[in-house]
Amino acid sequence: MQVVNHPLLEQRKVRLLVKRDDLIHPDISGNKWRKLKYNLEEAQTEGHDSILTFGGAFSNHIAATAVCASVMGFKSIGVIRGEARYASNPTLSLAKRYGMRLDFVSRRDYRSKEEPGFLDRLALKWGRCYVIPEGGANKLGRRGCEEILKTVSIEHEYVAVAMGTGTTFLGIMDGLGHQKKMILGFPVLKGFDELDEMLSLSFPNKSYQLFKDYHFGGYAKFTDPLVSFINDFKRQTGVRLDPIYTGKMMYGLFDLIGHAYFPQGSTILAIHTGGLQGIAGFNSRYGSLIDE
Ligand SMILES: *Cc1c(COP(=O)(O)O)cnc(C)c1O
Repeated sequence: MQVVNHPLLEQRKVRLLVKRDDLIHPDISGNKWRKLKYNLEEAQTEGHDSILTFGGAFSNHIAATAVCASVMGFKSIGVIRGEARYASNPTLSLAKRYGMRLDFVSRRDYRSKEEPGFLDRLALKWGRCYVIPEGGANKLGRRGCEEILKTVSIEHEYVAVAMGTGTTFLGIMDGLGHQKKMILGFPVLKGFDELDEMLSLSFPNKSYQLFKDYHFGGYAKFTDPLVSFINDFKRQTGVRLDPIYTGKMMYGLFDLIGHAYFPQGSTILAIHTGGLQGIAGFNSRYGSLIDE
């Protein structure tokens, strides 16, 4: 947990705490570890020796699965979307170092990855595996995320979290119990209307809000102001953010603070979900935009 000091926070008289799940492990994004925890436990219970999962070439989930599987004595297979030309990028090099075997599939095949035919072919090729969906987005992943706020003892009225699949957000909502808190979700890609609707049905008595205008054009898209914000934030607060998830959340949060969304005296808890392993890959792809 870290208290963040920043001139805007003083000016608006709000307090910002950052829950540093990025510090759980340098190569395992904080929330990815939480989403893997019960899945790997289940794989053990079911007597599996191999984990198979899916992701893009720069995926935090692929990196985290490779590391966790290896530490827990599993073999791992990463089914990677297209782009075999990225096979030696920092993320996939890390995955390979931890023994993950990579299976590059076309974008078209990747889109059908949940269909029985495709899974059957993977099973023929790789044998019996415990399959974890992309991003660790399943029930057990969601259950692991219920624990994110468990150890937080400082009072806060707001919680802010980046959203990819929304699993982390949902786990946090599940974990609230009777606590009255406002959960703010920052989708990092377009197309969250459906989930937003589902939330209103699943959690009629909970307070939450999704801010759908901070995706910067879509998943892994970015702009100069986002890059400058991330670099300034690190200089001013010492906290590194990644350009795919936490940078967008924090940008959105500071935009809201600047527009007086939060009453004076509020305390906001922002979840640093990690993602820092992705900075090297991002910089190798776009030129060293993010200060390391
Ligand atoms: C994957 C990821 C997220 C998004 O988590 P979801 O549960 O898919 O919404 C947020 N932050 C970081 C750093 C991630 O790697």
